[in-house]
Amino acid sequence: MKHVIKNCTACLVGALLGAGPVHAGGPLILEGANGNTPVSYTSGAVSLNFDQGLLRTTLTNQQADDLLNQAFALWNNVPTASISITQSSDLSQDIVVSNYAPLLPNGLSNDPSFSDGVSPVIYDVDGSIIDDYLGAGQSSAVAGFAASIYTVGSNAFVEGYAVLNGFKLANSSEVIQLVAHEIGHLIGLDHSQLDIDNTVDSGNACATAPSHAYPVMYPFLCRTANSLHPDDIAAVSALYPAADIDQQLGQLRGYFVDASGNPVRGANLWVENTATGDKYSIVSDYLKQNNGYFSLYLPAGNYTLHANSLNPIFYDVSSVGPYANTSSDVSFQAPHPITPVTYQRDTGSPVAVSVSTGLASEVTFRTDGTGTDTGGLTIAQPAASNGGGGSGGAMSAALLAVLLMIGVMRARCRCD
Ligand SMILES: [Zn+2]
Repeated sequence: MKHVIKNCTACLVGALLGAGPVHAGGPLILEGANGNTPVSYTSGAVSLNFDQGLLRTTLTNQQADDLLNQAFALWNNVPTASISITQSSDLSQDIVVSNYAPLLPNGLSNDPSFSDGVSPVIYDVDGSIIDDYLGAGQSSAVAGFAASIYTVGSNAFVEGYAVLNGFKLANSSEVIQLVAHEIGHLIGLDHSQLDIDNTVDSGNACATAPSHAYPVMYPFLCRTANSLHPDDIAAVSALYPAADIDQQLGQLRGYFVDASGNPVRGANLWVENTATGDKYSIVSDYLKQNNGYFSLYLPAGNYTLHANSLNPIFYDVSSVGPYANTSSDVSFQAPHPITPVTYQRDTGSPVAVSVSTGLASEVTFRTDGTGTDTGGLTIAQPAASNGGGGSGGAMSAALLAVLLMIGVMRARCRCD
């Protein structure tokens, strides 16, 4: 039995209570035969079943449903991605503390909720469900959580679930932001640090940049605009690429290594478009191939390339990338923390790397800023993004059997 628990801490009321944390840039779950394939929903279709009750006492059920659909649209409307998150038939009743249990994983490998055909979105109007499920008092800290379930060895999600704490939501905008973040996790997106201050403490998490500079998938929910950040768009496009993505974007990829050429894992890498100022991020060796690999789908343009280490507060429920599950994980061990560095090739000063639509540019980026880059390459997709790949048929046929070894990912958001 394998359980993958990856939580996130989000503070959607950061502005009111002082920030708390929310996990991007890359995939949240790696699985598949070699354990380095991002897990996603086959065909990009996700349909969810909504609660019949209230999310907030000041909203009707219909108004809450409408806000959820507005959040779904943020992801659905990305032209370079193929994700389709939709509202399906409602759950059979108002979900409350006395009847929620069958809908959520209970930690057992043969949990019937793993294969009930229902992907619930539960409205916890007073926090009582979160208190019951996560522990007394948790509703004062947890804004919501969401997850999808996958079968060990496959790279396809089976079902999802989300619990939203209406008790912690101050207004409709916060509902949309919380849902967008949690649904990001539900479809398999991780947190991202981007270029945000990597030394800030949790009490000032939203204080070092204007709110629009924070991605939806930043570990703290600092964004206030009801829109996606370019970093969010690149992340969902990489996990759910549109059929014509190669006609819309190019690829910047490479290897982050030390001065001796040894791979550096778990570093925070980001790029900045020199014309638009848009920024995008990914964690080095995000596919856990032990080679320092990174890859970003980007609009054509020139990009400076930067690296630093993760903020030491971004672990466990706030983890960024696959190497931050604990405070002593790879992202927090030597050679980390590394000195923040900008790619210079061999010039001694920052240089931009050109990315062209439909083509890849590949960079070897060393921790001292030196390196080499080559453009005009064929775009490479080292890991299948959707479906079960070559083992898809076998997985379907064996689904009932392998449910005994199912994995669970849980993303949780809370305010410290
Ligand atoms: Zn999160």
